[in-house]
Amino acid sequence: MPTKRLLGEPVAERLRTNARDRTADLRERGHVPTLGTVLASDDRAAGRFMDLKHDACDDVGIETRDHRLGSDVSDEELFRVVERLSTDPTVDAVFVQTPLPPEVSTLDIGSRIDPRKDVDCFHPENRGLLVGGDPRFVPATVAAVEELLAAYDVSTDGRDVVIVGRSDAIGVPLANRLLQKSGGNATVTVCHSHTRDLAAKTRTADVVVTACGVPELVDGSMLSPGVVVVDVSANRRRVDGEREVVGDVDYESAKEKSRAITPVPGGVGPVTLATLLGNVVLAAERRTDGE
Ligand code: NAP
Repeated sequence: MPTKRLLGEPVAERLRTNARDRTADLRERGHVPTLGTVLASDDRAAGRFMDLKHDACDDVGIETRDHRLGSDVSDEELFRVVERLSTDPTVDAVFVQTPLPPEVSTLDIGSRIDPRKDVDCFHPENRGLLVGGDPRFVPATVAAVEELLAAYDVSTDGRDVVIVGRSDAIGVPLANRLLQKSGGNATVTVCHSHTRDLAAKTRTADVVVTACGVPELVDGSMLSPGVVVVDVSANRRRVDGEREVVGDVDYESAKEKSRAITPVPGGVGPVTLATLLGNVVLAAERRTDGE
């Protein structure tokens, strides 16, 4: 059977349409959904991700406030900007792009965001709700993986899922969601840089999700036939002077083993932009409804 490509764009288009319609409703009711974003890095890829988020908001009618602080910003100034957005009554949602300065944790940032505006789930209260199975927001990347699997009828119920990466932005919340009875109902293994014999773990999986930022770490020899592969990463590198974007998975060899696989680019990335829009609109709707 030919390998199915799990393309993100059709899924993203459906989610964008939903966000656009709900934004129009809010505007009719006199509320302009507004996202405040912060970037405290000179990383070019992170800057590009921010540009894409602003374009996506623009496209559906969400307003944005853009704060590009650069990597030499002091922690105090970074926290001040986040707190100002968090208390600004004209802002519905706050998103802080990673990478953060090395000494600043996602909890340092999250605890300064009003949990009702914390659309990427950095606030400790929101993390607790997510782990408890009653999330206020599902982080955009996690929601994107879920949307993509659902759109292509990939059920994780009763399946063995291996996640490569344990960051508190992606790997850990995704593991929680996939584990829950009301969520993915899967048996979940989370791997990281100290995992011994990664290939032995990935070979046990019905579904492999990679979010580690290591180009082509996982190849076909590390997968079992019939696996579904979701590659969250988009790693930029130069080969023979040419720039290219690759995932954590060696696509060509992995495709030979897979029942279905996301391309990079064009898989999870576009869906993540769209799920963030959905979270911003949700935050704005709740504020309009006085929740
Ligand atoms: P991160 O905070 O750097 O975490 C990377 C994780 O990968 C860590 O848990 C790390 O282990 C693990 N890891 C690193 N090398 C490994 C190895 N050789 N074997 C196994 N595990 C390894 O990154 P992140 O913020 O979660 O982002 C992960 C990737 O997703 C990045 O490539 C990022 O660009 C991408 N991303 C994509 C989207 C999207 O929409 N598609 C959105 C956001 C981010 P330790 O914990 O032991 O260090």
